[in-house]
Amino acid sequence: KADSALYKMKESGRGSYRFFDEEIATELTRKKKGLLALHTAVKERDFELHYQPVVDLSDYSRVGYEALIRLSGENGEVMRPDEFIPLAEDFGLIHEIGEWVIETGLREAATWPHHLGIALNVSPRQFGHGVVVKQIDQLLTTLDMDPDRLDIEIIETTLLHASPNTIQELHALDEIGVNIVLDDFGTGFSSMTYVQQFPFDKIKIDRSFVRRIESDRQASIIASTIAALANNLGKHSTAEGIENENQAALLRTAGFQFGQGFLFGKPMPAHEIEELNPDRGKNATR
Ligand code: C2E
Ligand code: MG
Ligand code: MG
Ligand code: MG
Repeated sequence: KADSALYKMKESGRGSYRFFDEEIATELTRKKKGLLALHTAVKERDFELHYQPVVDLSDYSRVGYEALIRLSGENGEVMRPDEFIPLAEDFGLIHEIGEWVIETGLREAATWPHHLGIALNVSPRQFGHGVVVKQIDQLLTTLDMDPDRLDIEIIETTLLHASPNTIQELHALDEIGVNIVLDDFGTGFSSMTYVQQFPFDKIKIDRSFVRRIESDRQASIIASTIAALANNLGKHSTAEGIENENQAALLRTAGFQFGQGFLFGKPMPAHEIEELNPDRGKNATR
C-alpha cells in the first residue's frame, strides 16, 4: 500500500505528497483508536468468547467448539481479533488477554457435555515464562477436566521466533495430555520444520486453501498433500473455512477428519447454542 502510494507520488509530483501523508495519518488514527479501545477493554474485561462448532467430516456430528475472542460493547465495533491480537502482542497486553481466554474458555467448557472438546487460540508470545502451562494444568485439575478435551491452537507463522523455552512448554502441555494444534498450516515459510520440531497432535489447514479448493487444482493438491502428511504421521487434521457442501465433500475425500466453517455454524455466544446448555429449562440458572 505504501509502495503504491510512493509510486503515485513519484509519478505525479508534489500534488500527491499530501495524499500519501493523509493515508498514513488515517492509518495511524485508526491504530491509535484501536489501541485505546483495547486498553479500556483489558481494564474492564470487555471481552467475550464466541464458539464455533467443529464437526466430524464423516457424519457432520459436532465434536467440539473453537473459542474466538471478541471485543464486546461499543469497542466490539472497533476491531476484529485479526487486528487487535497482533496489537495486543506488540503492546504487551496479550498476557492478560490470553489468561482471560484460558480461564473463561475452560470454565465454560467444563459445563458442556463431556464428549465435546474446546479449542483455545494461544499466542506464542504467551509462552516462555511457564505461566500458561501452570495455569492450564491448575485449571484442568480444579475443574476436573480431561486434558484430552482441550486443544491449544498455535498459528504456524508465529512459531518462527519460538524460543527453546516455548518448545519445552509445548512438550510440557503435551505431557499433561493437552492437544497441540498447528493453526493456519501452510501459510508459514518452513512448515515442514515445525512438523518435526513441535509435539503437535493436529494440523489445521489454512482457510486460503479451502477457499480455492473448488477452482484451483494446485490448492486442491496442496490440501490433499497436507491431509496425507497428517495421516502418515498419525496426526489429526482439520479444515477450516468450509462454506459449502462441495468443499466439505472435497476435503473429506482429500483425507481431512474434521471440518469447521460457516456451513456448519458461525461463531456464537455459548448461551445461544442449544447443545451447550444441557440444563436449560430444567433449572433456570442460565
Ligand atoms: P483462526 O484461529 O484461524 O480462526 C478462524 C477464523 O476464521 C475466525 O475468525 C473465524 O470466525 C473465521 N471463520 C470460520 N469459519 C469461516 C468460514 O466459513 N468463512 C470465513 N470467511 N471465515 C470463517 P476470527 O474470529 O475473526 O478470528 C481471527 C483470528 O484471530 C483467529 O484465526 C485467531 O488467529 C485469532 N484469535 C481469535 N481469538 C483469539 C484468542 O482468543 N487468542 C488469540 N491469541 N488469538 C485469537
Ligand atoms: Mg484457531
Ligand atoms: Mg486458522
Ligand atoms: Mg487464522
